[in-house]
Amino acid sequence: MKPRYLTKSRFKLALECPTKLYYDGKSEYANQKIEDTFLLSLAEGGFQVGELAKCYFPGGYEIETLDYDEALRQTNELLKQDHVIIYEAAVRFENLFIRADILIKNKKKIELIEVKAKSYHTSKDGFYNKNGSIAAAWQPYLYDVAFQKHVVRSAFPNQSVSAYLMMADKKAKCPTDGLNQKFKVVTNDNGRKGVVVSKALTTNDLKEEILIQVNVDECCDIIYQAGFETDDDVISFSDYVNQLADCYMKDIKIISPPSNTCGGCEYSATEQERKDGLKSGFIECWKECLGWMDEDFLVPTVFEIWNFRNKNVYIQAGCIKMADIYEEDIVPKSDNKPGLSASERR
Ligand code: SF4
Repeated sequence: MKPRYLTKSRFKLALECPTKLYYDGKSEYANQKIEDTFLLSLAEGGFQVGELAKCYFPGGYEIETLDYDEALRQTNELLKQDHVIIYEAAVRFENLFIRADILIKNKKKIELIEVKAKSYHTSKDGFYNKNGSIAAAWQPYLYDVAFQKHVVRSAFPNQSVSAYLMMADKKAKCPTDGLNQKFKVVTNDNGRKGVVVSKALTTNDLKEEILIQVNVDECCDIIYQAGFETDDDVISFSDYVNQLADCYMKDIKIISPPSNTCGGCEYSATEQERKDGLKSGFIECWKECLGWMDEDFLVPTVFEIWNFRNKNVYIQAGCIKMADIYEEDIVPKSDNKPGLSASERR
């Protein structure tokens, strides 16, 4: 049986909603993200950027196997060297497991580079809000890299670990035409996607780097210091991660109260999927939390009110069905423009 480790993608899932960890990977539950073609095309862009990033750090070793133990064995063998570059390095600490896009070891220093198919401008894009907290738009990327750094420094406590994001540099100009066509996304016999780099790739293609490496150690420290809010407490980053890992390992469902996130939850099933025998995590969650019966799911809810920003407040107050909302809650206001205003349309 595959070990049940908390990986970076599962940590990301748990940040959206910890209950999702329970449904993850279970084929009896419908999952709307599996077939999402937009996400699939984004992933393809990610493969290409990842492969280009490796070209900027030549001479590394790629860990190709998907087997956890074998990947760890190969990585640890390579890490016996003083200087080494590893692509897709596998690192485990207790029940936490990551594959680092690029890991560079120089004696006592480890650089951990997470490659993202996202663009970044050194002077216009900031990671922080005015109060010094991490800006919402950057949270998924920075929590991901903070998780990886936590795993690497826990696994190698005698090394100093620095973390970086590597992204498309908005200021850079692509040195040659058709560079992306030299990184072809292919699917192997096992259905696994990868990138084949064309033999036509030249030194000119790589002369001016179009990806930028940004140090995010300070962001990681802010994330570690902030910890996580639970119902009645704030717990440290490492305690929270350990709690998630423990629940995932034991297959314990972490119950989360209904929230705005439920509206876009991928673990909901269409009527057809339910007829085909698939379970709906969404229905399970709401039955457990709200005591709803099958007929409760037939009536319209706040999720169907277009552009209703106070949704979460109403959900938390238990006003979830449309019948619980009054016209004055939505406050229709005219915007003095022809036609209905946004609030009038609601
Ligand atoms: S339905 Fe809501 S509580 Fe349940 S997994 Fe989805 S987001 Fe989490």
